Amino acid sequence: MVKENLKVVYNKKIALDTFEMKLETIDMASFAKPGMFINISLKDASKLLKRPISICQIDGNNLIITYKINGEGTKQMATYECGTYLEAIGPLGNGFTLVQNKKALVVGGGIGVPPLLELSRKLKELGNELIIILAFRNKESMIYLEEFKSLGQVVVTTDDGSYGFMGNAIEYLNNNEIKFDTLYSCGPEILLKKLEEKYAGCEGYLSYEARMACGVGLCHGCVKGEKHYCVCTDGPVFKLGVIYGEC
Ligand SMILES: Cc1cc2nc3c(=O)[nH]c(=O)nc-3n(C[C@H](O)[C@H](O)[C@H](O)COP(=O)(O)OP(=O)(O)OC[C@H]3O[C@@H](n4cnc5c(N)ncnc54)[C@H](O)[C@@H]3O)c2cc1C
Repeated sequence: MVKENLKVVYNKKIALDTFEMKLETIDMASFAKPGMFINISLKDASKLLKRPISICQIDGNNLIITYKINGEGTKQMATYECGTYLEAIGPLGNGFTLVQNKKALVVGGGIGVPPLLELSRKLKELGNELIIILAFRNKESMIYLEEFKSLGQVVVTTDDGSYGFMGNAIEYLNNNEIKFDTLYSCGPEILLKKLEEKYAGCEGYLSYEARMACGVGLCHGCVKGEKHYCVCTDGPVFKLGVIYGEC
């Protein structure tokens, strides 16, 4: 983990309330792995807490992050222009465990989709066959469809039926039996919880979110599960069953 001033290479809107930001790093990108995140200080010094954002793509010495406007901090981030420097620490967290030569089911929900892009690229490089379910509220919120299509078989679901299967990812999976060796997911907590229940006993790696302050395991502000795991350092990726099922 390092602390660096990252230069904004671009910051552009890619979907409804959703932005993609490319950040030039000195060393940070060289330590990055799929599923890790960076903790960004806002330019507004009155907002003390850093904002955790997942690494969506690793591109040489650049990191690409994708974020959705959720509150004051992310609204501010959307205004940062090319050439702005942002202080950040990272890469943080454990990242996904990567399997080889298997059939992987990748399930992303909403703004949980971005970290699954770098993951899917690495899984493909490792000889895995990918079935990718991307779940969004509506067509306007869809991101990275073409990128995922180049990596495996993709199914899109939208809550309002404006694109693909009408319903959420769990409804799709309940209606369509998919055989797989390893499950990967990131998305809203309710999605992760239902996946843990549905696929109890299967091999899987799920990336959880929690409101966090320090990001390095000191404040214990982001604990989850009966064993009080810190999402920032024990996670954000947990083996299927660790947070909602039997360990
Ligand atoms: C490991 C991890 C990875 C994440 N990756 C992404 C990503 O790739 N893209 C994306 O859009 N969002 C991601 N989030 C959520 C993102 O951190 C929050 O949306 C963001 O911090 C909200 O800040 P805000 O100032 O806009 O909202 P406000 O609600 O105004 O924030 C107030 C405070 O709450 C904290 N906070 C609010 N929501 C969350 C949340 N869901 N998780 C953690 N802290 C929160 C903020 O850090 C801030 O300190 C991630 C969260 C975690 C924990």
